[in-house]
Amino acid sequence: MKQKAIDEKWMKRALSLAEKAAAQGEVPVGAILVGPDGLPLAQSYNHRETWQSPLAHAESIVLHTASKKTQNWRLEDCTLYVTLEPCLMCAGALLQSRVRRVVYGAKDPRGGAVESLYQTFQDSRLNHQIEITSGVLETECSDILSQFFQERREDHRREKESKNYRYRSSVIVVHKNKVLGFHAIDPHSKAKYIFMPGGQIDSGESAEQAAIRETLEETGYKIRLLPELKLQRRYDFEWNGKVHHCDTTFFVGTLDEDWHEPRWVEDADYNKGPTWIPAKDINKVFAYHPDLLWGVQWGLKRALASQKKG
Ligand SMILES: [Zn+2]
Repeated sequence: MKQKAIDEKWMKRALSLAEKAAAQGEVPVGAILVGPDGLPLAQSYNHRETWQSPLAHAESIVLHTASKKTQNWRLEDCTLYVTLEPCLMCAGALLQSRVRRVVYGAKDPRGGAVESLYQTFQDSRLNHQIEITSGVLETECSDILSQFFQERREDHRREKESKNYRYRSSVIVVHKNKVLGFHAIDPHSKAKYIFMPGGQIDSGESAEQAAIRETLEETGYKIRLLPELKLQRRYDFEWNGKVHHCDTTFFVGTLDEDWHEPRWVEDADYNKGPTWIPAKDINKVFAYHPDLLWGVQWGLKRALASQKKG
């Protein structure tokens, strides 16, 4: 076997070790030490998080294991394969161990101590020098790292987003087989909607208070809520060019004043005025969002049931 083929064979093994690290949430770096007889002496991967140790780099663990195994801190005529250019600490340890050759895959422009930032293996002031072969399976070795960091960034983003819920109230106000809503136009997409009244819960305000206040502001109607009828639901809603993560408590309400025709209200620009939707039309009117449709169906059913009762 040619040297290049041998190097690639061991680097593949180091890569599969790096994959194990990634699966455990460790920065994926794998290493393997091959003895003078061409057989592997020790192999490992980065354990920094698992062991909570700054010393637990793949190369460092491998050197430790191999020395224990051979009962010899000198690892002369050995070759170390590692997927990422060694750092200062590992470069130091490799010099101490007297390995003959280091083969690595990806360069580390921010921490590499073999070629990138420091050239420790070729420093004639030190009593040992190490032969270097770099760029073996470089693409694979660097891809596994960038993929890991990209996934971790996405995890962080998702985590952040999942906390970024808007707590809001919505009310299904029912009067004589009609549901209260208001016309709205999305300022960004210009799409036309009919919304049921509701909005953000202000600080110091209960979900119930927010429901009553928003209904008055958005439709001009004074309402009261039917007791013990509430349900919470989380969903995404696209509005004004952004996806909003909504955590909405739905209430069922009824007028707390005499019926009157919808009046003009002074509210946000997108509010184009209140309207009453016949119960038979709700499936069509709220078809634009399954969760809102579900909320209206639930509220209407409860309201009609309570009207019958009382
Ligand atoms: Zn290191």
